[in-house]
Amino acid sequence: MQLYKDQTLKVYNSLTSKKEIFKPINEGHIGMYVCGPTVYSNVHLGNCRTFMSFDMIFRYLKHLGYKIRYVRNITDAGHLENDADEGEDKIAKKARLEELEPMEVVQRYTVDFHNILQQFNFLPPSIEPTATGHIIEQIEIIKNILDKGYAYEKNGSVYFDVEKFNQTKEYGKLSGRKLEDMIANTRELNAQSEKKNPQDFALWKKASKKHIMRWPSPWGDGFPGWHLECTAMSTKYLGKSFDIHGGGMDLKFPHHECEIAQAEACNGTSPVKYWLHANMLTLNGKKMAKSTGNNILPGEMFSGENTILSKAFSPAVIRFFMMQAHYTSILDLSNDALLASEKGYHKLTDAIATIENITTAAATSFDILAWKQKCYDAMNDDFNTPILIANLFEGVKYINLIKEGKETITEEDKALLKETLSNFVFDVLGIENNVTSKESSNKLPEVVDLLIQLRNDARGNKDFATSDKIRDELAALGIQLKDGKEGTTFSIS
Ligand SMILES: [Zn+2]
Repeated sequence: MQLYKDQTLKVYNSLTSKKEIFKPINEGHIGMYVCGPTVYSNVHLGNCRTFMSFDMIFRYLKHLGYKIRYVRNITDAGHLENDADEGEDKIAKKARLEELEPMEVVQRYTVDFHNILQQFNFLPPSIEPTATGHIIEQIEIIKNILDKGYAYEKNGSVYFDVEKFNQTKEYGKLSGRKLEDMIANTRELNAQSEKKNPQDFALWKKASKKHIMRWPSPWGDGFPGWHLECTAMSTKYLGKSFDIHGGGMDLKFPHHECEIAQAEACNGTSPVKYWLHANMLTLNGKKMAKSTGNNILPGEMFSGENTILSKAFSPAVIRFFMMQAHYTSILDLSNDALLASEKGYHKLTDAIATIENITTAAATSFDILAWKQKCYDAMNDDFNTPILIANLFEGVKYINLIKEGKETITEEDKALLKETLSNFVFDVLGIENNVTSKESSNKLPEVVDLLIQLRNDARGNKDFATSDKIRDELAALGIQLKDGKEGTTFSIS
């Protein structure tokens, strides 16, 4: 169903700093690119929030009936420790510290990333390309930029010439910076620097002898600059100009600014129609950082194993909590806020589970179509999920008033109420549909007993890997096993 024909979606475009009516380049089709993770450590919760915002956007655009190609990359090479093209490759460093092959690091943390996103009920993107899988495309882009005179080679490295680019085009337009100010505010380049100008950025870096992640190129063995992969992969899969580019606010500068410069230098056109940026997650009012200990991993939230939390929270509750803030606002996570969200989550899902039981009448006493359109209006206003959720609770209020006999609903409208709630809660917000009928949820104790038996069998066979796995996976689902004299019992948190 092409619902988009009846709805006017507006999105906040970071490029123009305005809310604009969304109109894709090709009617009915959308190309969307989101910068994915650099897979050198466990995905942190702040990143999960960014990706969840774009999962929600992906879901709503799909719900509106668009045919959408969503590309989210995996950065598995080229991301150095700092933005000035200095330092070690993040993945190579982890590999050195843990005595692993870089690709073992990549594999380990890609699996972790997918596992966490799956628990949060993400839809997979249409394509998930990797930087190392697109070295040839990146070299081709560098050749093209060199040919057009917007880059220069120095000692086996190639740098983008920002000043040259800025003579005819505009560097800094996304982040609202002026090149003159940037130059005025930077210290002199040190004598060893190969760059003409500190604002120049690497398209290709010569690999030192020690650098293990290296590829041959016309300029010698090296590796691509971090910004380049996104230009290569978005152009390859979405074309020279596409509709939406997303990412965290922190990527606006320099990463996205450099993507624009590369693409414009190479293809001569502006690459992206709408730039969307998601805001960050703080923890107890402070920025999350591993170094200060003000940090929490998604897995620790699912198990409750972190002193910040009083209990475990299910991925669905955490997702609901994140959806209660607008994606462009800072969201603060705390135990109290999660407890409040958990209550709200149960109120909403309980109402959906009981909707079947409400009795119908000859007429509906409230304006259900107006309520439904209010839900769309919220999402059409730059994906305003907190307003949507407020409207969904209005639906819950109707259900309760009907139960109390204070409002009435027809059979047909009851189906519409149920469908609308289910569309927005499960399909658009992506809250996992755990709303099951009493009959199947009652089988849970039998299923857990069966797993306890399997665990006992594994222990009998000294297969402790399996027995621990059963215990840990159940714990991750909030089911705690307790071994006692009478055998093993369980509790659900
Ligand atoms: Zn990117």
